Amino acid sequence: MTLSATQEQIINCIDNNATSSQWKDWKWQMRHSIKDLETFEALLDVKLSDKQRKAFGKAAKKFPISITPYYLSLINTEDIENDPVFLQSVPSPLELNIVKGDMSDPLHEDSDSPAPCVTHRYPDRVLLLVSNVCPMYCRHCTRKRKVGDEDTIPKRSAIEQGIRYIRNNPQIRDVLLSGGDPFLLPDDYLDWILSELRGIEHVEIIRIGTRTPVVLPCRITSNLVAILKKHQPVWVNTHFNHSREITQSARNALGMLADGGVPLGNQTVLLSGINDCPRIMKALVHKLVKNRVRPYYLYQCDLSEGLSHFRTPVGKGIEILESLIGHTSGFCVPTYVIDAPGGGGKIPVMPNYLISWSTNKVVLRNYEGVITTYKEPDSYEPTFCDRDCDSCDLLLKLEDADESKAIGIEQLLADDDQTISLVPSSNARHSRRKSET
Ligand SMILES: *Cc1c(COP(=O)(O)O)cnc(C)c1O
Repeated sequence: MTLSATQEQIINCIDNNATSSQWKDWKWQMRHSIKDLETFEALLDVKLSDKQRKAFGKAAKKFPISITPYYLSLINTEDIENDPVFLQSVPSPLELNIVKGDMSDPLHEDSDSPAPCVTHRYPDRVLLLVSNVCPMYCRHCTRKRKVGDEDTIPKRSAIEQGIRYIRNNPQIRDVLLSGGDPFLLPDDYLDWILSELRGIEHVEIIRIGTRTPVVLPCRITSNLVAILKKHQPVWVNTHFNHSREITQSARNALGMLADGGVPLGNQTVLLSGINDCPRIMKALVHKLVKNRVRPYYLYQCDLSEGLSHFRTPVGKGIEILESLIGHTSGFCVPTYVIDAPGGGGKIPVMPNYLISWSTNKVVLRNYEGVITTYKEPDSYEPTFCDRDCDSCDLLLKLEDADESKAIGIEQLLADDDQTISLVPSSNARHSRRKSET
């Protein structure tokens, strides 16, 4: 694979003698990560205004910069301020706006930690933070409080304590490696962690959350895939936020993982000005499934400090789901979740499809706006119910009953009416039907 013109320009600027095989070496990429604005401007050959440089620099002091040369090369310099790659990687002065409701650790990951490196929130699964190193510092990081914080890199002894906690708690059947990025660990170290976890009988599956296929796709080497294969089932969740990120290099990395038998999922964060658009989201999920990646979660942006400019109303997420459900393949649709502040976990949010309900009928609406009914069974004996209905003494006094004709949803619910659906007059499917006859 040849390098793009921008990639040629960046590599020559970093090191005139560097070769394209060095460009594809993840350690070379890491060694040459962009950590300051001067380098950013030089490599991309762009000029920030003095005002921009000052404002971006101030934000970078609080929340540091790190961008791989590869990810940098995806920035479209023609329209830099609206570029999704730029917006996810370059600091904005808006990060310094701490608004009411912002929290340093909204998900209470630190307080829900019974052992070093472990967050234990759900009964049968835990988060194990094995790395604090990332190839790229996402501006929307939920763990922004830790970004660039060298002294929180877990020591081997801390990881061992975390693994011991998992070993001592037989209800844990699913372990999620996160960080930082677990794929930035050296191969043999990752192999060691996976071997330790595989040695625990009650650990059924291991999951790894990584952004390397997006920001450092050359990290997916055949040796890494062989390690994952050895310890299967290992599921990998990655983090694409925009279809622009699914480049040929990213597709190759995903292909290697999928060919290695690794089931792939994707977690997207809903970000204002980046992907808060039904059409962008649809393009993203279609491109993901074409590359054997199942969209898993769409996250409402967390309440971490410095993210206020990325947040959308929840309604934007609902609108996006409304434009996906029914309109495209079921497995293209992620579950939209709000990770509850205070550690309540992920809460799914959906458009409402259940419009109304009586004792024997459900009224539903579909993605087209057609309202329909589902008739429930006439007789149904629940296996077990402790409600004492024999003593129920609810009485209906008919004298005050409403005698008007049932219309709308109420009509669909009525036992003496044969109507099964209400169809909007502009429904295209029904118009087609009429023209056929
Ligand atoms: C997200 C998360 C999990 C995994 O949740 P799933 O819904 O099973 O993907 C587990 N533990 C913590 C602390 C999490 O934040």
